[in-house]
Amino acid sequence: MYNVMSPRAEEFISDEEIKECLAFASENKNNRKLIEQIIEKASKMEGVTHKEAIVLLDCEIEDLNQRIYKLAEDIKQEFYGNRIVMFAPLYLSNYCINGCKYCPYHLKNKHIARKKLSQEEIRKEVIALQDMGHKRLALEAGEDPVNNPIEYILESIQTIYGIKHKNGAIRRVNVNIAATTVEDYRRLKDAGIGTYILFQETYHKKSYEELHPTGPKSNYAYHTEAMDRAREAGIDDMGIGVLFGLNNYRYDFTGIIMHAEHMERFGGVGPHTISVPRVRKADDIDPDVFDNGISDDTFAKIVACLRIAVPYTGMIVSTRESQESRERVLHLGVSQISGGSRTSVGGYAQEEAPEDNSAQFDISDNRTLDEVVHWLMELSYVPSFCTACYREGRTGDRFMSLLKSRQIINCCHPNALMTLKEYLEDYASEGTKAIGEKLIAQELKKIPNQKVQKRAAEYISNIHLGKRDFRF
Ligand code: SF4
Repeated sequence: MYNVMSPRAEEFISDEEIKECLAFASENKNNRKLIEQIIEKASKMEGVTHKEAIVLLDCEIEDLNQRIYKLAEDIKQEFYGNRIVMFAPLYLSNYCINGCKYCPYHLKNKHIARKKLSQEEIRKEVIALQDMGHKRLALEAGEDPVNNPIEYILESIQTIYGIKHKNGAIRRVNVNIAATTVEDYRRLKDAGIGTYILFQETYHKKSYEELHPTGPKSNYAYHTEAMDRAREAGIDDMGIGVLFGLNNYRYDFTGIIMHAEHMERFGGVGPHTISVPRVRKADDIDPDVFDNGISDDTFAKIVACLRIAVPYTGMIVSTRESQESRERVLHLGVSQISGGSRTSVGGYAQEEAPEDNSAQFDISDNRTLDEVVHWLMELSYVPSFCTACYREGRTGDRFMSLLKSRQIINCCHPNALMTLKEYLEDYASEGTKAIGEKLIAQELKKIPNQKVQKRAAEYISNIHLGKRDFRF
């Protein structure tokens, strides 16, 4: 029985409810009156329910689809403006005891090179990342209580925050590790993590169990209820995601919105981010064996409909997507992207020999961070290296209320410009610097609060003089 307030995975992600919604959406995909009503409601920019969102996703009426895309763009503009937050993944270890069929780190893969970074190697990786200009990382590690115990993750976080190299600093460490206990989540919170990220992969229990035949991750309920334990431990920035391609995308689209609704109603805070990865090729993994692959058009529609359903949740696309695909979805709702990423263990400080391959997936967008920053600015986006909210304690519902009150333009926008200025001063190529300086001058004028605008301009001049780390 469906119950958004239930602590039980099978009740807040009810299979019966999802199937009913999918049938309802199929019946109504050409129901102009109903779809117009949903678009009308969504235009208030306060979100729509999972049942309404799947009707929008299924909509087959061309002019209404154009209105859906336009609304997604408007919501993106209203809440996130033209800022795109930059981050990089950092792979600590690819030892893993799980049997996930879509991931090359699965236990039975005997030909992938297994690696775990020492604290000294982490230092080298982080210095390489700082030298690129990154300020925000997402830590990645397989699940292995012997090789990657929680103590190793905690020590690594401490190492990363402690590295100050030239003007570099990692100011926010997000963590993507396996579902764990309330006690371990408390330890992660005490270590000062930013977002705790855990992808569901698929919400369809039977498919989930087939895709995860062995290891602790095979426990669907334990995995699906992980965010509630993280919340109980006091973590209030949490990132969810599904791996599109594994299962029917309509099912997982509905499931992820139900999960967001559950987190908001049951835990008091909706997800901070939603990631929308698609299955990629990797060692021992052929994406073609999964017969649920989605086209670029469907991918774009998913991004647009998620933007409409959960306007207050950031959305992430990684370098799994090509430049072309990323360009297509940026304006539809994506607010964070990775750049200059390596998906191998130790891949930033040193190029890997092909026989040493330890990567989790093949990257589609291979450009450097400088190239990505340059490209974003050419498209009139403001690449942001900002981590201010987290450092000012604006997390969870404090962050959400700032977003809902539209005050973020007087806060995020100047912070984005100041961190971009730091990037230009310390790391950018000449061409990137030239386009960036022009962009900052234009964008400063868009800050509505005149006092904030003046102060941001002063801070930016100070950054040029060598000072760092200003924030609102
Ligand atoms: S997805 Fe995660 S848990 Fe599964 S094999 Fe890969 S690293 Fe291990």
